[in-house]
Amino acid sequence: MPCPPTAPPEAAAGVSAHALSPGVGWTPIAEEAERATRVKHPTDQLPRPARRRVLAVANQKGGVGKTTSTVNLAAGLALQGLRTLVVDLDPQGNASTALGIDHRAGTASVYEVLLGEIGIIDAVAVSPQSSNLLCIPATSDLAGSEIELVSMVARESRLCRALSGVALDELGVDYVFIDCPPSLGLLTVNALVAAPEVLIPIQCEYYALEGLGQLLRNIELVQAHLNPALTVSTILLTMYDGRTKLADQVTSEVREHFGDQVLRTVIPRSVKVSEAPGFGQTVLVYDPGSRGALSYLDAAREIAHDHRYQDHGVPNHTLGADGRPADREVSR
Ligand code: ATP
Ligand code: MG
Repeated sequence: MPCPPTAPPEAAAGVSAHALSPGVGWTPIAEEAERATRVKHPTDQLPRPARRRVLAVANQKGGVGKTTSTVNLAAGLALQGLRTLVVDLDPQGNASTALGIDHRAGTASVYEVLLGEIGIIDAVAVSPQSSNLLCIPATSDLAGSEIELVSMVARESRLCRALSGVALDELGVDYVFIDCPPSLGLLTVNALVAAPEVLIPIQCEYYALEGLGQLLRNIELVQAHLNPALTVSTILLTMYDGRTKLADQVTSEVREHFGDQVLRTVIPRSVKVSEAPGFGQTVLVYDPGSRGALSYLDAAREIAHDHRYQDHGVPNHTLGADGRPADREVSR
């Protein structure tokens, strides 16, 4: 797309095949072990997209699950053999933390990439959670960048330009997720110009839909002036609490309004999901047996099987024992 001119198998160990099949002896522990097995040893390979997919994960409302969804969807795809890059475009650096990536001051980061001081290759780090999971971290330097960018040439398309080089081809990246900050400033605009797709996480709460109109209007503006290819491809409902009627009301309202753009998989509210970043991990690695982990794995699968972006549904990878394609090597 041209830029505008301006983990090991121990969880299942000791659990017999009998315990893993519903029926007699079916217990919550067996259920959890079965989920862990599904997350750690996915059976079906995911198809690679016809072309690399770049998704800006955006919602100017704070705390709706942008970062949590970015890192867990990315991990879900990576663990199933697709090479995935997370661009942490939020000065809070939460995505870098959840992926276990160093983002102390002085680390090569997205800030220097936006300024054009370094290229993508120099800023990419590999997550300890999977060799398929890459990240361009954010340091606190990024906090000043909204102001610094204002006076720069092509200030809205600096990330697009950086991602358009050959670096992502060299790294063999299939998916890029850009974790946006909770604002509609220049950083988010850079993400919307760099990505053909927007993924909007919506929290299943009362105020969830407030502000969505403003986000959609901004997306239309970027589409009209800077990135004609931009579409809202995916909506993900997060923090669903089945005990409340409100969660169901929000879910139906969002589905009524956005139809097929909304993923069938809904992410439940789960303590494990919120605990994971404290250990520098995604929930898929922190607790693969949890409902949160399985939901994110399912959501990642839905995204990969989206027929609009499929390469005729043919899996292109031969996976190695660690779940990654055998033919690629990345190091830093
Ligand atoms: P910000 O706008 O500040 O960047 P965000 O939209 O990226 O926030 P997150 O940081 O992903 O939102 O999530 C906000 C909080 O909610 C975090 O503490 C996170 O751990 C928690 N959280 C996210 N998803 C879930 C979930 N499914 N269950 C429980 N807690 C969750
Ligand atoms: Mg965030």
